[in-house]
Amino acid sequence: MTSAAAGRSEAGSVPERRIVVMLGAPGAGKGTQAKRLSERLGLAHVSTGQLFREAVSDKSALGDQIRPYLASGSLVPDDVTIGVLIERIGRPDARAGAILDGFPRTPAQARSLDKILAAQGDAVTAALYVEVSPDELLLRLTGRRICTLDDQHVYHNVSRPPEKVGICDVDGAELIQREDDKAETVRSRLELQLPPMYEVIDYYAEAGVLSAVRGDQPVEAVTEDLLRALASVSRAS
Ligand code: ADP
Ligand code: AMP
Repeated sequence: MTSAAAGRSEAGSVPERRIVVMLGAPGAGKGTQAKRLSERLGLAHVSTGQLFREAVSDKSALGDQIRPYLASGSLVPDDVTIGVLIERIGRPDARAGAILDGFPRTPAQARSLDKILAAQGDAVTAALYVEVSPDELLLRLTGRRICTLDDQHVYHNVSRPPEKVGICDVDGAELIQREDDKAETVRSRLELQLPPMYEVIDYYAEAGVLSAVRGDQPVEAVTEDLLRALASVSRAS
């Protein structure tokens, strides 16, 4: 039994602090959904990808260290990623819980997360897998545009265009394509990141906290399915 499952059965009920893991290929809609779920559930939205992009744009020591990984579409090493995650979920806004968007992406990260949470008497509440076909992923990634002021303001050329072309609806800043959303990097991201993601899916399936939803539906329908999935995984504990 993994410690995700052990943490739940020892407590006898779902722990107070809700830690929801969002799983899915790059472009599946994790960020879009994590933002909506965090607003609906009052939990912090924690995106390791966002934290990494911030570090790169701040030109911090961490940013210098991880820039090559982001540029090539490979995963940042586990020890670095886990350190960033620990710091982030220790912030006050994550006290009630968090939606983890893009973490864990390897079995080692999943095991570390269990250990970190177990040490605080917590456990992963649910792992929600947003499933999207490979063809749709390519369209979503290459059409994605993000705001230069806040990369959680996410648009899509076709499925979610801004009111004014190239301009963020929220703050009027310029929209750009993420460096790693250019066609060449997209392919290597999918090749490199999908195999470990499937292992993480197996890990949470074994722990009994996994639920999959169809991501190839309108954004609102995916959110409703995720909320239902969260309730059903939670009830099963
Ligand atoms: P991820 O965080 O998994 O990489 P995003 O949430 O950034 O994915 O979504 C990738 C792209 O697909 C974005 O441009 C987003 O606007 C678009 N998108 C997200 N969900 C949907 C959906 N259900 N239908 C169509 N487009 C979507
Ligand atoms: P994302 O915004 O989730 O698409 O992440 C952008 C990039 O950050 C990824 O392509 C990876 O290079 C890196 N990254 C984000 N989260 C992780 C993680 N949990 N483990 C390793 N690398 C990550």
